[in-house]
Amino acid sequence: LTIGDFFDQMVEQHPDKDALISAHQNIRLTYRELQRKVNQLASSMIRMGLQKGDRVGIWSHNNVEWVIMQLATAKAGIILVNINPAYRIFELEYAINKVDCQVLVLMRHFRSSDYAVMLQELAPEARHQSYQNLELVQLPNLKRVIWIDSPESTEDFSYMQKFSAWIAEGDADDPAVAERAKKLNPNNPINIQFTSGTTGTPKGATLTHRNILNNGYFIGEAMNLTADDRLCIPVPLYHCFGMVLGNLAILTHGGTIVYPNDGFDPITVLETVQKEQCTGLHGVPTMFIAELDHPDFANYDLSTLRTGIMAGSSCPIEVMRRVIDQMHMKEVTIAYGMTETSPVSCQTNQHTPLEKQVSTVGLVQPNLEVKIVNPETGETLDIGETGELCTKGYSIMLGYWNDTNKTAEAIVDGWMYTGDLATMDEEGYVKIVGRSKDMVIRGGENIYPVEIENYLYRHPKIRDVQIVGVPDKKFGEVLAAWIIPKKDSNLTEQDIRDFCKDHIAHYKVPTYMKFVDEFPMTVTGKIQKFKIVEAMTQELG
Ligand code: ATP
Ligand code: MG
Repeated sequence: LTIGDFFDQMVEQHPDKDALISAHQNIRLTYRELQRKVNQLASSMIRMGLQKGDRVGIWSHNNVEWVIMQLATAKAGIILVNINPAYRIFELEYAINKVDCQVLVLMRHFRSSDYAVMLQELAPEARHQSYQNLELVQLPNLKRVIWIDSPESTEDFSYMQKFSAWIAEGDADDPAVAERAKKLNPNNPINIQFTSGTTGTPKGATLTHRNILNNGYFIGEAMNLTADDRLCIPVPLYHCFGMVLGNLAILTHGGTIVYPNDGFDPITVLETVQKEQCTGLHGVPTMFIAELDHPDFANYDLSTLRTGIMAGSSCPIEVMRRVIDQMHMKEVTIAYGMTETSPVSCQTNQHTPLEKQVSTVGLVQPNLEVKIVNPETGETLDIGETGELCTKGYSIMLGYWNDTNKTAEAIVDGWMYTGDLATMDEEGYVKIVGRSKDMVIRGGENIYPVEIENYLYRHPKIRDVQIVGVPDKKFGEVLAAWIIPKKDSNLTEQDIRDFCKDHIAHYKVPTYMKFVDEFPMTVTGKIQKFKIVEAMTQELG
C-alpha cells in the first residue's frame, strides 16, 4: 500500500473521528474533512503540472497545513522535502538547491523570525534592496512560493501565494488524483528528510512509502495505539520523530493527532494534554525534563496519559522513572533509530520489564534485523560485546539524495552502518552505549560518556549534564563535564567530586567541570556535543 491508500482506508473506517487537533491554530478536522483537503491539494499540485517524483519543500513548524502537505504529496507521488524551521537563508538555499525543489511552502511568522522576510531576500523582486550578498543566493528552479495564511490574514505578497488560494485551485473530487494513485508504487521515494546535524552537516535521506508507512505502523503497535488514542506531538514534524513516530503512528491506527504549539514550550504541552485529554505524549529527554521541572507542573492533571515515546538521544534513567511515576505514562516506550532507517529500529513495549525499559532501547522491531560488529574488522560480535550497530530490512532508506559515495559508505550489502555503539543481551535487548564519534579514549581506556551522565543525573542538584572528551597532552583525551545545576542549588565542583569518589572509577571522573545555563542544541532538541568539544577545546587553549 501507499501512504495515500492506507489513509483512505482509515477514513473509511472512522470518517467522523477527529484526525487532527491543532491547539495553537484552534482547528479540528475529522478524518473525512482532512481527506477532502488532502485530495483538494493533491489535485491542485497535479493541475499546476507537478509530476511524480518532483520535489516540494516545507519550511514550517507543526500545523494543520503540514499534515495536509504530507498526505497530499504522498497521494500525488511528489517527494516532500522537510526543511528545518531553524534554517536561515543560506541554509535554505543549500537545501532547496540540493534537491531541486520546485515549490516551497513556508510559515509566515515564528516568534521573532519571519520566514517571509527571509524569503523576500531570496526573491528576485527584492534583489535591489539592501542586501549586499544577495547575488550569492539563487534559487533557479523554485517556481512557486506558498505561505501558510490564517483566515484573518490580510497581507499580500507579490511573489508568494496564500496556502488557502493554492488549495482552492484544486478540486476534492478531481479524478486526476485517483489516476495519479494508479501510477504509484510503495517503493517510490516520497520524502527527503535531513538528519539532525548532531555531528555535523545534515544529510538528506531519501525514503519511500514502504519505509515510513511500515515503520509508523509498527511504532504505533508497540505503543498499543488504537482509534481512541489522542497523541500530543510537540516534537517537530520536519524531523522523523514528529512525522513518522507521531503523525504516521497515530494515523495508521485511526487516532487523533494533537499539536500543542508551533515550537516547543513546556507549559503549552501540559495545558494541551490536560485540555484535550491526551493519552500519549512524545518528547526528547530534554523536553520531558523541561515539563517535569516546570514550577507549575503540579497544577496540571495529566492522568489521561498512558503512552508515548522518549527518543532521539539517550534517555536518562531518572527521567524515565519520573515520566512513568509523575506523568502516569506507564506504557511509555523508548525507541532507537536514525533518519536513514525511517527511523525506528529498536523499541520497548508494554511487556518490557521496567528494569529493561529504563536501561535498554528494547528489542529489534518486527521484520527488521540487527547485528553488532567490530568497527575495525567488521566481524559480528558475541552477546554482551560492544561494537557498531547495523540494521537491515524494509526500513533502510533508498540512499542519501544524489550522493552515491556517502550512500555506499553507509549501506553495505543492505546493512545500514549506524555509527552507534551498542551491546545486545541473551534475550535480544539492545543497549546503546553511545556514538562511536563520542567515545572517549583516555590513556587507552574506552569511556562511554552516557554511562557517566547516567550516574551524575542521580545527583539531586544536577538538572542536566553532558560529558565530552577534550584533547589532552598526557592522556590523549580527558573528560569534561558541562553541568546545568538545579535552580538555587549552590552546587559546587567539590560536591560533584565527592559524589563520584569511590562510586565510579577514578578515570571516569571528569577532569574539567563547567557550570552552564544551557547546551548547544539542534532544533529537534538534541545536544550538539561537537560544539561543546569545540568550545572547551578553545577555552583550554
Ligand atoms: P547527524 O547524522 O546529522 O549527525 P543525528 O544522527 O542526530 O544527526 P538523527 O538521524 O536525527 O540525526 O538521529 C539518529 C541518532 O540519534 C542515532 O544514530 C543515535 O546516535 C541517536 N539516538 C536515537 N535514539 C536514541 C536512543 N534511544 N538512545 C541513544 N541514542 C539515540
Ligand atoms: Mg546520524
